[in-house]
Amino acid sequence: DEKVTQSELDPSVKVVVRIRPSNTGEREGEQTVKKVSYDTLCVGDRQFTFDSVFDSSSNQEDIFQTVGVPLVKNAIAGYNTSVLSYGQSASGKTYTMWGPPSAMFEEPSLQSHKGVVPRIFQMLFSELEREQQMSGGKQFNYQCRCCFLEIYNEQIGDLLDPTQRNLEMKDGSKHALYIDNLTEEYVTSYDDVTQILIKGLSSRKVGATSLNSKSSRSHIIFTFVIESWCKGISSSGFSSSKTSRISLIDLAGLDRNKVDDAGRQHLKEKKNVKKSLSQLGHLVDTLTKKTHSGKAEQIPNGNSCLERLLQESLGGNAKLYVICSISPDNKNNGESLHTLRFGQRVR
Ligand code: ADP
Ligand code: MG
Repeated sequence: DEKVTQSELDPSVKVVVRIRPSNTGEREGEQTVKKVSYDTLCVGDRQFTFDSVFDSSSNQEDIFQTVGVPLVKNAIAGYNTSVLSYGQSASGKTYTMWGPPSAMFEEPSLQSHKGVVPRIFQMLFSELEREQQMSGGKQFNYQCRCCFLEIYNEQIGDLLDPTQRNLEMKDGSKHALYIDNLTEEYVTSYDDVTQILIKGLSSRKVGATSLNSKSSRSHIIFTFVIESWCKGISSSGFSSSKTSRISLIDLAGLDRNKVDDAGRQHLKEKKNVKKSLSQLGHLVDTLTKKTHSGKAEQIPNGNSCLERLLQESLGGNAKLYVICSISPDNKNNGESLHTLRFGQRVR
């Protein structure tokens, strides 16, 4: 049994890069951001290798096959899994993760734009239902719940109840962190999940999606918990149970060199984003060390909300999928290099 489990394990961290297509208004000209093979790309004269590289010819299904399918398999096997969407503003993080909300409905013309997250839940529910049918409805049972939050300027907001903008993090039993008063919804189908995703995403979006809008300065995390029971598995006749957590994280864009009309508020936002993203690199380092040595490494007492929340999802036997999004435009090469270095660091 041990052997089978081992061989089915994929690495605990998988990093993919997606180069988004050029938007209107971006220079055609000579492009120095190029995919050179299935796992390698160049930015200027630098070359980087990841688990997979996708360019503008890729589609949402390709990302799902590489990231979503293994995630669902691991989640059903009982692993905690996470997707981190990392990159500068307007590099395609949100498009890749969720896709346009209207694409989550079964509208044929938009199906191809559906993001990796709705695809994950489509597959997850069909797998859970299949497993239950195979067990005759008696042996295998499951229950799913989810929540959706936003971290904006170090404040935790509830995307499922936008009146709650400054929730508190508390230590619960067994050292588990929880967020006081965060809305938790029980879901039983893909349709339930899409309703929640659409609701949450529309609460995040404030005003226009310009580079300075709130939506590019906040981290959002959709957390989905699957509890499942199998009856009569053990000789003692007790049922065995499994809990796995899926964390889907769309990070704020860190635009280090952008000159904007930053007033005080923007500077503060920027500082908070920068702080939480640099701690994120550190957190993932710690996680990687831990899985390599097999020993529990002490995660330093984080002081950003993001780090504290993620240490729960990334610790232990977790699988992390990082999607680095970059722009095809040469003028963004500085930011793209920063994103790719982050990806190399966590890999
Ligand atoms: P971010 O979340 O990183 O700020 P977005 O996901 O909002 O970036 O993407 C910026 C713009 O580019 C959006 O208009 C989005 O629809 C478009 N876009 C991003 N990636 C793709 C892609 N792979 N194919 C088509 N359009 C894309
Ligand atoms: Mg975004």
